[in-house]
Amino acid sequence: MEVFKGKAIFSGIAIGPVSFYAKDQMQVKRQRIEDADAEINRYEAAKATAMEQLGELYEKAVKEVGESGAQIFEVHQMMLEDDDYNESVYSIIKTQMVNAEYAVATTGDNFSEMFAAMEDEYFRARAADMKDISERILSVLTGGGQAKISDEPSIIVADDLAPSETVQFDKSKLLGFVTRHGSSNSHTAILARTMNIPALIQIDIQESWNGKMAIIDGFTGDFYIDPTDAVMEVYQAKKTEQEERRKLLATQKGKPTVTKSGKAVKLFANIGSVSDLASVLENDAGGIGLFRSEFLYLQSDTYPTEEEQFKAYKMVAETMAGKKVIIRTLDIGADKQVDYFNLDKEENPAMGLRALRICLTRPEIFKTQLRALLRASAYGNIAIMYPMVTSVEEVHRIKEIVAEVKAELDAASIKYADVEQGVMIETPAAVIISDLLAKEVDFFSIGTNDLTQYTLAIDRQNPNLDEFYNEKHEAVLRMIEMVVDNAHKEGIWAGICGELGANMSLTERFMAMGVDELSVSPTFILPIRQIIRDYDGPTK
Ligand code: PEP
Ligand code: MG
Repeated sequence: MEVFKGKAIFSGIAIGPVSFYAKDQMQVKRQRIEDADAEINRYEAAKATAMEQLGELYEKAVKEVGESGAQIFEVHQMMLEDDDYNESVYSIIKTQMVNAEYAVATTGDNFSEMFAAMEDEYFRARAADMKDISERILSVLTGGGQAKISDEPSIIVADDLAPSETVQFDKSKLLGFVTRHGSSNSHTAILARTMNIPALIQIDIQESWNGKMAIIDGFTGDFYIDPTDAVMEVYQAKKTEQEERRKLLATQKGKPTVTKSGKAVKLFANIGSVSDLASVLENDAGGIGLFRSEFLYLQSDTYPTEEEQFKAYKMVAETMAGKKVIIRTLDIGADKQVDYFNLDKEENPAMGLRALRICLTRPEIFKTQLRALLRASAYGNIAIMYPMVTSVEEVHRIKEIVAEVKAELDAASIKYADVEQGVMIETPAAVIISDLLAKEVDFFSIGTNDLTQYTLAIDRQNPNLDEFYNEKHEAVLRMIEMVVDNAHKEGIWAGICGELGANMSLTERFMAMGVDELSVSPTFILPIRQIIRDYDGPTK
């Protein structure tokens, strides 16, 4: 037996034979050509076929993993239409008088290297997508590049997997996957999570494993090759336990989230876009506690219009059918940069012009979003929440702007509801003055990701600080309790929408503190509901 350590990107146990997945390496030769236009036409034809293939993959993926998992194929279509990418291919063909295959391979390598060198982890993960789209065109041009996997249910072991490959595998045959490359932010990792497949990355894979029995432990990151009988027995038992647990969790669907002493807790979901809604419904969330609206801005090349935003918010409100939908106003800046905002490069972006600070300094952007939100509020139970608040004065300024927007809507006889408005508590300043803020708003939602960063003075983006980062730091936990107490004194509710809210080792402590709402990734809803329903300790 051999054991290898990797990084788990989705938990769970998989047991089965290894199917080694090796792509036929497409040999791309550099060949001189006479007619550049004819070569460009070949490229355009191959691109058109690749676009069609991506359209078909999108349809297939929507059926298998839902819209959010399938979105990557739309992104690939967009990447294929990218002007810079296409200009590079044309220019290599024309200036070097070479074949389309060579121009595509070179462009793919250059662009992928460029993305790999970027600081932002999200963009680094796009390097794999760049390779994927280039390989797709190459396989159309050369008629090759298709790889085979075993017909038996197996654990796929590969150097790397492109999203298009992950989704093409027959799900009933895919027990799990293990790769040498890849990052936890890559779309392949996101797909693995959406498809509920245990997966490990960063393992030094070997072709000699093909056909051997293996175990993925998606909790510890361990990968066993040729496990002993004793290890096999332990993991068979764990797997059965996991399946039992999944069945048990399904029994939590439709049940109210209430502690044994009768305190009803709002158990809501965090989402980034409308495509996450399927998972919200599937996991029976009581509402949406954090819609990170900035993703509408991040996905766009220019400011999303009022109409575009209105449609997105209305769709979420309608889909949630009367359940609360808390939409956070844009939190651009810091780690979420958008070119068209033309923000100055800052020494210290986490403490820079971000979130509410942008909204207050560029009220025209803020007002467009507020109009869209208020208009959509006529179609469901929308609440608005403001990020990165540090003072009561800021809340007053928000109120003035909201009043202006409402007056404009009134003048135009446009309907809107009396929306609840809350603030995120994600700065130590907001915690300390939460008694004052509580007099101004309808609810608090504690953003523990930023609150921990600002309290412990640890940049949440810096992986070198992991050893100093204690997400369960007593300072943060005491702050949460203080915020909840101050909220209750003014008769408003307080919840947690940062990642800490999903830390199940703290759920009981949150109940004891009197936390009224937890907003977590959809897959955490049912396990947390179970803990809350079993909780028989005190609540405030
Ligand atoms: C937080 O800071 O905890 C939060 C929920 O906001 P974000 O992670 O989007 O900054
Ligand atoms: Mg935050």
